[in-house]
Amino acid sequence: MMMSTGLNTGRAALFFGPGKPFRLEELPVPDPEPGAVVMRVTRANICGSDLHIWRGDGSFAAGGRDDGRIIGHEMTGVVHALGEDVTTDWAGAPLAPGDRIVCQYFRACGRCRPCLRGRQEACINATASFAGRPTDFPHFRGAFAEYFYVRPNMAVFRVPDAVNDATAAGVNCALSQMMMAFERADIRLGDRVVIQGAGGLGLYATALARESGASQVVVVDGVAERLELARQMGADEVVDFTEFESPAASAKHVRALTAGGGDQVFELVGRPGVIEHGLQMVSPGGRYIEMGTVYTGTTSAIDAGQLVMRNITLQAVSFYDARSMAKALDFLARHAGSLPIVGGSAPYRLEDIDRAFEEAQQGRVARASLVMEG
Ligand SMILES: [Zn+2]
Ligand SMILES: [Zn+2]
Repeated sequence: MMMSTGLNTGRAALFFGPGKPFRLEELPVPDPEPGAVVMRVTRANICGSDLHIWRGDGSFAAGGRDDGRIIGHEMTGVVHALGEDVTTDWAGAPLAPGDRIVCQYFRACGRCRPCLRGRQEACINATASFAGRPTDFPHFRGAFAEYFYVRPNMAVFRVPDAVNDATAAGVNCALSQMMMAFERADIRLGDRVVIQGAGGLGLYATALARESGASQVVVVDGVAERLELARQMGADEVVDFTEFESPAASAKHVRALTAGGGDQVFELVGRPGVIEHGLQMVSPGGRYIEMGTVYTGTTSAIDAGQLVMRNITLQAVSFYDARSMAKALDFLARHAGSLPIVGGSAPYRLEDIDRAFEEAQQGRVARASLVMEG
C-alpha cells in the first residue's frame, strides 16, 4: 500500500560542524519508495559517537558542511508511511501506520566481499546511506529530526509492547552493537568480564555479560551515578578510577579483583588513551574488545610483546547485523521492568538540542534523549 504523505514537512536539526550551533529547518517528508518505510521519530538519544562528531574528535575535526547534515542514529519511532510491498517487519510481524518500530540506521549492501563472507557488520558500503544533502531525497538521513527514512534493506522491527520508548531508543545502536560484540567475543560460561566505561554501551555490556554466564563482571568508570547503574545492571564489582593515583594503579586493582585479569575486557569509553591500561587488565589468553574509538585519526601506543607473550586476542567491532537487532529486542522484552532504563534519563526537546549536547558532554547522564512531540 503506497501512502501519500502529501506536502507535509518535518523539522530537522542540521549540524554544520564542531563548535557550531544546530539549526532547525523544515524539510519535505518524502513518500517511501517500494521496500522503504518513513518513520516518525519519537525519541532520539545522544550517543557517544554523536559527541565525537560534535566535539570534532580525531578525523571528525574536519567534519561538518556548509549546507548542514542531520546527525544522530540512535532512535525509535512509529510508522508514518509504508512503501509498496512493505506489509511486515523483518521478523514477519504485520506493520501498519502508527506501529512502534526500531530500525537500522545504516544498511549492508549484501554484495561486497565482507557481506558475501557473512560479515555484514563489516560491509564497506554500510554508511553510504548517510551521504547526500538534506535538500535532496530522502532528506531525513539522521535521528535528530522528526522523521527518518528507513531505506530498503535497513532492518526494521516492531517494538514489543513490554518495551517502552525510552528503552527502545537504545536498541538500534548501543544494544544491537553489544549483541554483535558478544557474538564476536565468544564469551564462555564462567568467564571473567571487565568493562571500561559505564555509558550506554557499558551498561548493556554489563547486563549481557550476566546473561552470558560470566562468573564475574567488573565495571570501571569515573562517575558514581554510572557505577551505581552498573551495579543495578548486574556488576559484581565497580571501580571508580578517580579514587586511584594513576590509571596503572586502577588497572592493578582490577587485576587483583579478577585474580589475574579479565578473560574478556571491553573498551567502551571512546578515548584511545584508555587502551594501554585496558590491555593491562586482560588475563593471559584473554581478549580485548575495542569498540569505543569510533573515529579515525588518533593512535594509542601498544606494547606488542605484551600482546604476544600473553596470548592476547584483539577484537574490534563496529556496526551489526539484523539478527543482533532481533536479539536485542528479545532481550529487552524478557528483561523489561527488571533492568534500569538506559536512555531517557534526561529528556530534551528537539529545539533544545544544543543544550542537550552540552549537558551530555558533561557526562552526568548516561544517555541524553530528545523527545519529539507527536
Ligand atoms: Zn551510537
Ligand atoms: Zn556490503
